[in-house]
Amino acid sequence: MSGISDSFQRPISYLRISVTDRCNLRCVYCMPPEGIVLIPHSDVLRYEEILSVVRVAAAMGINRVRLSGGEPLARAGLVDFVRMLSEVKEIEDLSLTTNGVLLKDQAAALKDAGLKRVNVSLDSLRRKRFKEITGHDRLPDVLDGIGEAEKVGLAPIKVNVVVMRGVNEDELLDFARLTVGGWNVRFIELMPILQKGARQPEFVSAKEMWDALSSLGALQACSPLAGNGPASYYQLPGARGTIGFITPVSDHFCFKCNRLRLTADGKLLPCLLESGEIDLRSALRSGASSEDIRQLILKAVASKPEGHRVSQGVVNQRRPMTQVGG
Ligand code: SAM
Repeated sequence: MSGISDSFQRPISYLRISVTDRCNLRCVYCMPPEGIVLIPHSDVLRYEEILSVVRVAAAMGINRVRLSGGEPLARAGLVDFVRMLSEVKEIEDLSLTTNGVLLKDQAAALKDAGLKRVNVSLDSLRRKRFKEITGHDRLPDVLDGIGEAEKVGLAPIKVNVVVMRGVNEDELLDFARLTVGGWNVRFIELMPILQKGARQPEFVSAKEMWDALSSLGALQACSPLAGNGPASYYQLPGARGTIGFITPVSDHFCFKCNRLRLTADGKLLPCLLESGEIDLRSALRSGASSEDIRQLILKAVASKPEGHRVSQGVVNQRRPMTQVGG
């Protein structure tokens, strides 16, 4: 298969899908406690509609799909949808990003339906603090979810930690120590994407994180984990797991961006942090053929910007992270 490339010769092989903008947590930097204006149910793509987009994209060279949200496990019928996606033969890597709250009960069924692996977002290992950050006392559920995902083989599991000054940066070493026993932890720089009413804690750069981790020993660069995503990976001496850094702000990785995003309401986004979107939902609901959808996907690929400008303080994305999948 020849695949598709954008105007900057980047091969596009990855589709990240927000299956819902609803979430069962209220992380301070993502949503205000009262929530945000939700997409009306009738505007959210039905699973069959998403599947038809995936089929066309797969025939064009997309071979990795990640489901996100909102909280994907909060949408009814997700396991059946995973099964439908896993039958698209070109998709080699089918994964999910979740807050883990509902993972324990769904992990085995998801694995059985064909999901390969999960990323779990977890910003604190301390129960009281977890509740302060997310608005809900669900840390034990998340830890149980990770345990169950491990047990059923949704591997490798990556634990994503957004590091925030004065909030959780004092847990860097605790998270890093868990990699010795086999956890794969990725520290993420907070992006300045603020929703009305949400709080923006202070940014911590990956360089600062790195310096803080040096007290645990010299980090050795290692090969990337499954997924070929934007993180750079390291290991502590003798560790079974890995430490990753994702640096959207201090050192953006746009030059190797390989992705498109599908919002919960059916818009294709060429870039996480720039404006611009292609309306697939209207096309899908007015009888578009596969060729019409293919042309719209090509249009989105052709309009991918060379890079975003978040390091210069410019964020043109007006949609909440829950609609674009984080
Ligand atoms: N509910 C799922 C979860 O928690 O993983 C999927 C959606 S959530 C929006 C996806 C990811 O985006 C989470 O890891 C979250 O921490 C991250 N995220 C949201 N806002 C962010 C920001 N301003 N900077 C960095 N990461 C952010």
